[in-house]
Amino acid sequence: MTETLGTADRPLHVAIVGAGPAGFYAAEALIKQKELVCRIDFINRLPTPYGLVREGVAPDHQSIKAVTRVYDKLAAAANIRYFGNVTFGKDLLHADLKRHYDAIIYAVGAQSDRKMGIPGEDMAGSLPATVFVGWYNGHPDYRDLEFDLSHERVLVVGNGNVAMDVTRILVSDPDELAKSDIADHALAGLRASKVREVVLLGRRGPVQAAFTTPELKEFGELAGVDVIVDPADLELDPQSATAMADDKIATRNVELLRNYAERGASGAPRRIVMRFLVSPVEVLGSDDKLGAVKIERNRLVQSDDGSMRPRGSGEFETLECGMILRSVGYRGVPLPNVPFNEASGTIPNVAGRVTTQRGGEVVPGEYVVGWAKRGPSGVIGTNKPDAAATVQSLLADLSELAGAEAPDPDAIPALLRTRQVPYVSYGDWKILDTHETSCGGEQGRPRVKVTRVAEMLEIIESGRS
Ligand code: NAP
Repeated sequence: MTETLGTADRPLHVAIVGAGPAGFYAAEALIKQKELVCRIDFINRLPTPYGLVREGVAPDHQSIKAVTRVYDKLAAAANIRYFGNVTFGKDLLHADLKRHYDAIIYAVGAQSDRKMGIPGEDMAGSLPATVFVGWYNGHPDYRDLEFDLSHERVLVVGNGNVAMDVTRILVSDPDELAKSDIADHALAGLRASKVREVVLLGRRGPVQAAFTTPELKEFGELAGVDVIVDPADLELDPQSATAMADDKIATRNVELLRNYAERGASGAPRRIVMRFLVSPVEVLGSDDKLGAVKIERNRLVQSDDGSMRPRGSGEFETLECGMILRSVGYRGVPLPNVPFNEASGTIPNVAGRVTTQRGGEVVPGEYVVGWAKRGPSGVIGTNKPDAAATVQSLLADLSELAGAEAPDPDAIPALLRTRQVPYVSYGDWKILDTHETSCGGEQGRPRVKVTRVAEMLEIIESGRS
């Protein structure tokens, strides 16, 4: 640390772009440094904070959302400010942040999704699961989308926890969902839904599935839902059986799946069919409207690194459906004037220090945390050590960070006012939060989400006065 930067005379000024878990944990790691005097500003695109905790975590997983209390406590610190409803690259430019802060931490997550790369994928009715998640969670970008739930069968591609979430929401009893903070428009859509069967397609076997046991267990606890598993899919090849012996999660998952296979169908009104070792190869339809998906049976082949990879067997089948949701992973999108690695969909970095490209030079004063740093993996808590590691890199660089002039804390709000950006403070967010939770209280729900930015700003405006 230099004699001056990070002291009362010359506090460290940090901008954190993105107020999701990774951003909050970066702020926490900074303010926990006893010797460090710093000022932190969050720049967040939506008026609402919390990132995927609000927009991604399934509405029937309310307990996971309790983590926002930690973020609220952090945000109350005198040296933390929040500028919500401010888009990086539009309302505030990269050059603005370079000028007014000593360091920038990108905590923007992964805003898009990966594709399957098969013919017909862009047909109406073939959609990324991420937008369905955004829709039922009331994300303003997705709240006006329409999902055709007038068919009996939906296919969900992928075996991760997002695939589990969307499957569960599609077959859950709407009266149960009505007790949660699911967006009202989604609840209405799901009440009218004719979907009776969701077929989950895993390209590899049950041992290689990315979902975790609590999510698999929840399937079996859904009222009015049968979980259908073909026992033949649970016959393991020798390599998978060996791999499972060392993997507690896979062992428990396969145990549960055997349970489901034994239980079979009870004639419940809705069902989840879990298929393994199958890949969609073509989305079929007419007049650009899908009607079925051609799938190919796979077998597992050991690759050079020892992992088991899927390989098509040349055996095909066609499954009729009204919608297909691909849940094959999130993907980052580039930020204006910030390096981006197209191959990984992340911001290239070394130990959280942004680099010009993969293996390139370090860009001084720019850092990255969370999914934008490591890709879309892990649970919310994974972001805590991840952000702390980046902050360690930042602290190690302190002597090189200070510019000639100390940043003026009033410059950013002044700039936003000049540009007529209606930014939202944390206090403003709390006005909206109180509005949502009190509306929810009247209905016995945790909150009723406001899902349009204009409406959010109106509620905040009237709350201010
Ligand atoms: P994920 O865990 O990486 O799963 C992606 C799935 O897509 C894998 O099963 C993968 O199969 C499959 N896949 C990839 N490309 C495919 C293709 N071309 N065709 C067919 N399948 C393909 O990703 P995610 O589900 O989006 O979740 C992201 C992260 O958020 C994960 O860490 C997840 O645990 C976390 N999350 C947690 C919760 C929770 O705790 N309840 C809820 C939601 C999300 P392969 O394994 O064969 O590649």
